[in-house]
Amino acid sequence: MPVPEARAWLEAIPGVGPKTSAAVLSFSNLRRAALPVDSHHHRVAQRTGLIPRTMDVGPSHAALAALLPPEWDAQQVYDDHEALMLHGQRCCYFRNPACGRCVLLDLCATGQALMSARAAPDEARTASASDRPVQPL
Ligand code: SF4
Repeated sequence: MPVPEARAWLEAIPGVGPKTSAAVLSFSNLRRAALPVDSHHHRVAQRTGLIPRTMDVGPSHAALAALLPPEWDAQQVYDDHEALMLHGQRCCYFRNPACGRCVLLDLCATGQALMSARAAPDEARTASASDRPVQPL
């Protein structure tokens, strides 16, 4: 069964959404090319501009999967998920992301804006967003 059909079949089960359907197909012994998007993956994708900041996690599955090279196999799709998820867990934190040590800083407008705000003089920072946690995503 093709992945889109398998996902549609799974998502017809009450309570099963796109993350679960992708996880079942990707993480199990089936190891199919289905991209799960958890909250960490979603946050990194929003902050780096892969998806709009206003896009919810549900629709982000199709949007992010569409960005992957079509020739990628299941392992590569799985690795993509793992890389973004782990980056969110270990660097691009929900609050106060560690942009100063992030390998994506040169590519990330969110991180560059945060770094600029953090470097601003103290008096200028009092009225800025830099003293507040980054906007939750
Ligand atoms: S530069 Fe900052 S906001 Fe951008 S991905 Fe890295 S940690 Fe996240």
